[in-house]
Amino acid sequence: MSTSLTVKLMAAFLAVSLIGVALVAIFSRLITEREFDRFRQEQARNDFIAQATAYYQVNNSWAGLDQALNQFPLFSPLPAQPGDPLQPPPRPRFALANRDNIVVLADGPYRLNDRVPPNLIEQGIPLEVNGQRVGTVLIDTTRPPREPLEEQYLVRTNQAVIIAAIGAAIIALGVGIFLTRTLTRSLRELTTATLAMGQGKLTQTVPVRSQDELGQLAQAFNRMSADLARANQLRRQMTADIAHDLRTPLAVISGYLEAMREGDLTPTPARLEAIYTEAQHLKHLVTDLRTLSLADAGELPLNKQPVSVPVLLERVAAAHTYQAEQQQITLAVQVKDKVPEIQADPERLVQVLGNLVSNGLRYTPAGGQIILAAQAQAGQVRLQVRDTGQGIAPAELPHIFHRFYRADKSRQQTEGESGLGLAIAKAIVEAHGGVISAESQLGQGTTFTIILPAG
Ligand code: ADP
Repeated sequence: MSTSLTVKLMAAFLAVSLIGVALVAIFSRLITEREFDRFRQEQARNDFIAQATAYYQVNNSWAGLDQALNQFPLFSPLPAQPGDPLQPPPRPRFALANRDNIVVLADGPYRLNDRVPPNLIEQGIPLEVNGQRVGTVLIDTTRPPREPLEEQYLVRTNQAVIIAAIGAAIIALGVGIFLTRTLTRSLRELTTATLAMGQGKLTQTVPVRSQDELGQLAQAFNRMSADLARANQLRRQMTADIAHDLRTPLAVISGYLEAMREGDLTPTPARLEAIYTEAQHLKHLVTDLRTLSLADAGELPLNKQPVSVPVLLERVAAAHTYQAEQQQITLAVQVKDKVPEIQADPERLVQVLGNLVSNGLRYTPAGGQIILAAQAQAGQVRLQVRDTGQGIAPAELPHIFHRFYRADKSRQQTEGESGLGLAIAKAIVEAHGGVISAESQLGQGTTFTIILPAG
């Protein structure tokens, strides 16, 4: 494909340059010859007028003009040099009419003693002596024959034009080859990289050689390949995380059940409770994964209805008051001014805010504070969950919304943390057309902010 593109581009360059050069050659040739002839004609005519006028001034008549003119050649722009093998130039001739419009010097279509019609006299050039019109030089539009030297001059001019044209074509071709190679090189690199990606080598980069459309294409390709590689890495990581998170509770459940089946353990309420807890954990994990996959597919069912924000916050706070008291943490709701209602699925929002408050409770020491705040903000509603807990390190912060991300790896599963809570919160907020973000200072606390469209 790249070869044929090269050939096509080269052919196009060649065709354009040849057409351009041919047009320049033809027009310059035509113009040069026409202007050259016009110049010669004018010069010859001026010379003729000067000599004819001088003749009339002396003789006061046109009689004998023809013979007189034959004695001294009139105008010769390129006189033959002595010893020149070329013929002496033919004398350019003009027809002349006297003041009565009778032809006294014949040339071209005009015959001696013919009467010239007034319209042709008008087109001619009047000859005047002492302010009196004494005759008219008649214009003959046929081209006078060129002298050999003049012909040679024109041939040389034409040769120069042709050489210049060939030079221009060669340069155009050279530039064409260079441009074509540059263009197709980037395309070839992209093709190779795309084929490699197709074979599973996702991390491909092509050099960005320019800032034009091809450069932008290369940049977009590099971004796409990096994104694909990252997504692939995330997918693998997620599969490994899911397998790992499922294995522990399953191992506990099957261990207990096997021992009970073999008669090694009796099913006491405490053992059944342990099995039940692990089964619950599995159930939550599977529910969370399902929520995420629905959100990914844009099919998360939302039971949207008008929701009063203060009521929502009070409901979340009430659900966690007991635990907060147990941990000696102050849990408070702050609603600034009048916050408009929002169109949302209240259960999903309770899930999101509940998750944020649970995290806050988990990472805030006794004596700390968790605030659930709401505020209207330019046609939107801003919800915040602020804690005065341990905070999140700047290096961790960009990752906390990723699936299965746990800043403290050692805590996994011990306290029922799946590492999916914030990923689900993000998916639910985005399904509502909102955004969620986090700010944190180590040792100071963390603030989660959710912006939702009002109404
Ligand atoms: P988990 O189920 O493990 O809590 P999340 O997705 O809810 O998973 O949170 C991801 C990680 O973000 C947590 O493991 C924790 O390290 C960090 N994190 C979340 N909320 C807070 C908070 N309020 N204070 C400090 N760290 C937090």
